[in-house]
Amino acid sequence: IKESSVKSVNPFNNEIVKQFDVMNDKELESKISKADAAFKTWKKTAFNVRAKLLHKVASIMRDRKKELGALATLEMGKLHREAIQEVELSAAIFDYYADNGEKFLADSPLETPIGFAFLSYEPLGVLLSVQPWNFPFYQITRSAAPNIMAGNTMLFKHASNVPQCAQLMEDIFLEAGAPEGVYQNLFIPGEKASELVSDIRIKAVTLTGSEPAGASIAAAAGKYIKKSTLELGGSDAFIVLNDANIDEAVDAAVNGRMWNAGQVCTSPKRIIVEESIADSFLEKVKVKFASIKVGDPMSPETTLAPLSSEKAVEGVIKQVQQAVKEGATVLLGGKRIDRKGAFMEPTLLTNIEPGNSAYNEEIFGPVFMFYRVKDENEAVALANATNFGLGGSVFSGDEKRAVNVARQIETGMVYINHLTGITPELPFGGTKGSGYGREQSPAGIYEFVNAKLIRIT
Ligand code: NAP
Repeated sequence: IKESSVKSVNPFNNEIVKQFDVMNDKELESKISKADAAFKTWKKTAFNVRAKLLHKVASIMRDRKKELGALATLEMGKLHREAIQEVELSAAIFDYYADNGEKFLADSPLETPIGFAFLSYEPLGVLLSVQPWNFPFYQITRSAAPNIMAGNTMLFKHASNVPQCAQLMEDIFLEAGAPEGVYQNLFIPGEKASELVSDIRIKAVTLTGSEPAGASIAAAAGKYIKKSTLELGGSDAFIVLNDANIDEAVDAAVNGRMWNAGQVCTSPKRIIVEESIADSFLEKVKVKFASIKVGDPMSPETTLAPLSSEKAVEGVIKQVQQAVKEGATVLLGGKRIDRKGAFMEPTLLTNIEPGNSAYNEEIFGPVFMFYRVKDENEAVALANATNFGLGGSVFSGDEKRAVNVARQIETGMVYINHLTGITPELPFGGTKGSGYGREQSPAGIYEFVNAKLIRIT
């Protein structure tokens, strides 16, 4: 086994489970040419044929959800019940595009005083999709489902720490009857993915991940003039106004921050509470923290899983220590847990002033950053004080007031009295440093098609 292989390491006990060799240039060439060849026929297949494939993928995933879930838990540590929910959500997204793709991509007539005009939505070709490990099946799905339905063929570069999930998705597509070359997994390092963008047969690229990886892909896409979408990090604000139901808001904030061990792009990373209710909110948060059970992610009793890797837990601890050095206060947690595995204490951080690195950074772990504000204007200003612009929540007893606040938040999504959610029919994506483009919903299928004008005089 080569030094540069991609590895499955179980973060619950840090044991290496399996390794795969990185693909060499000859193997990559063969994958790209298969994807290119497959496009020539796949783009002509009827929608019902594509829909049948996606429904089959969905049904295999549902039938094997416990096994798939266990594999995600093994490779990146998430709670098994959360992994099963992820598989169910992924199946629902495949079904959604199978059921609606033909309708979304039907010719769309345009009003014109001369003749007759319409848009014909045509697939672009081979699409390169680079995905992160935090939702090993869902991340792949939200890019695969609309694009394969649209007639594109796809090359997936999944994160290096979830190779078994990556391979399993390719296997499921083949088992479901996908023609050779429609869906292929690549075992390559991240930088190699950026290099691949230059290949003339690759027509477009999408990446979900960190800002540096996004910048690298976007630079390559710019250089070779290819369409790209980016779903990057976030530091979502969770605003609690003084007329909110405090118990519901506390439950949503703590559960939202701790699920997936805090490694969710739209996790409520900054909890912003109006001064008049801040003390009572914080007391309830502390009570809720006391009930968090850290442990084996396969056990139904566990509520906080390990982080995805040693590197991940070390990185988050370092960020917390740095924040403290720069004046923040740790009210609870803040340390590694003294046991095997990538475990971190649930952490409550306050007194984070402008200029503190935690004020601007994304913390990808179970760290609850608590802010008090004078009023809703201050809440909005704080929410917008980062370069991220992904999601957000506003909790209030007054819907009109909450919507007014939501309109002022510079992100791609705001949910009222709810965590930033994920459903097949609603768009997902950000603005500012959180990237551009949308996945899911009707919008997700138009990113990588050519909306070609045809006019008949
Ligand atoms: P990451 O390091 O950027 O990894 C994401 C993917 O990009 C991996 O497949 C990685 O491959 C690849 N990659 C790394 N460097 C690259 C490069 N120079 N060129 C091309 N590809 C490259 O991300 P992460 O830190 O593990 O993942 C967490 C981040 O993803 C967080 O910031 C989170 O908020 C974000 N995220 C965003 C969304 C969203 O929808 N907006 C959803 C989930 C996660 P290797 O694994 O081989 O390095």
